[in-house]
Amino acid sequence: AKEQGKNKYNVFHSGMNIQSYRSFLLQNDLRKAIDNNEFFLVYQPKVNIHSGQVKSAEALLRWKHPVWGLIPPNEFIPLAEESGLIFEIDQWVFKNVCKQIQTWNNNQVEYIRIAVNLSAKHFVEKNFIQNIIQVIDEFQIETMQLEFEITETALLANEESIKQTLKQIKELGIHISLDDYGTGYSSIIYLRNFPLDSIKIDQSYINDLPNNMNNSVEIVESIINLAKKLNITVIAEGVETVEQLEILNELQCKEVQGYIYSPPISSENLVEYVQNDDSK
Ligand code: C2E
Ligand code: CA
Ligand code: CA
Ligand code: CA
Repeated sequence: AKEQGKNKYNVFHSGMNIQSYRSFLLQNDLRKAIDNNEFFLVYQPKVNIHSGQVKSAEALLRWKHPVWGLIPPNEFIPLAEESGLIFEIDQWVFKNVCKQIQTWNNNQVEYIRIAVNLSAKHFVEKNFIQNIIQVIDEFQIETMQLEFEITETALLANEESIKQTLKQIKELGIHISLDDYGTGYSSIIYLRNFPLDSIKIDQSYINDLPNNMNNSVEIVESIINLAKKLNITVIAEGVETVEQLEILNELQCKEVQGYIYSPPISSENLVEYVQNDDSK
């Protein structure tokens, strides 16, 4: 059944509503998107509150559909996961990030780490690590220039094998970030059992900070304190307002990502942003 799920074609049937018809069309078009050059990457800096320094940025995928225009990843990534295309797509993202880093290295652009989002599905793939090593060799970049962002659900699937995979990633020198922290089953055990470099507090908590909705201040504070004890860096994502920034600063959160500093931008604009960051 698993094999069948891979690259299967959806068949249209007359009972479909508009939304599932759109999904049906998009899912089939997704197959051609790589070959037709419809994907591109944007990058969002992760900024140190105190120094303004940017040491890392996250690569985010964009799909420009020839008819429908920009399709948000929240719409097409689930479709890609469903059809099995996510392997090809994330591989495309990883290769293009490595290629971009190689270009920067060749042009003596200042060192910056790039984070790649990986779907939970990769961690059960047998050749996952070998593929990564092969691409890194192909583009001759340093593993320290790479970071993987994974969600908690990835850790849930098969704890022992995932722990081994993460260990291998870490031994290669690639940073590991736990994404959307607080939205899943985020147990303290996880933070201790997996070799994580950083955790990203989900933007829903950051959103709630100003009026301390749903006890978000206490929750964020306890995440920060715990991470500090475990020597894990904390990043707040989706920071939009000065008010949120001030609360995070008070709570001693040092790294943030969000529209308040920069939305996701082109590679050229990222270079410019890094060269002009406040730490210089
Ligand atoms: P994510 O990894 O949690 O990425 C953060 C999302 O929040 C991004 O949306 C980003 O543009 C958005 N964002 C950043 N700052 C702010 C802010 O201040 N306010 C608000 N409201 N939003 C902010 P985006 O780019 O639409 O991506 C959505 C999701 O799609 C990502 O969530 C990630 O799960 C997935 N995704 C994106 N690119 C890839 C990829 O290459 N591979 C995989 N597997 N998933 C990807
Ligand atoms: Ca992410
Ligand atoms: Ca996130
Ligand atoms: Ca998310």
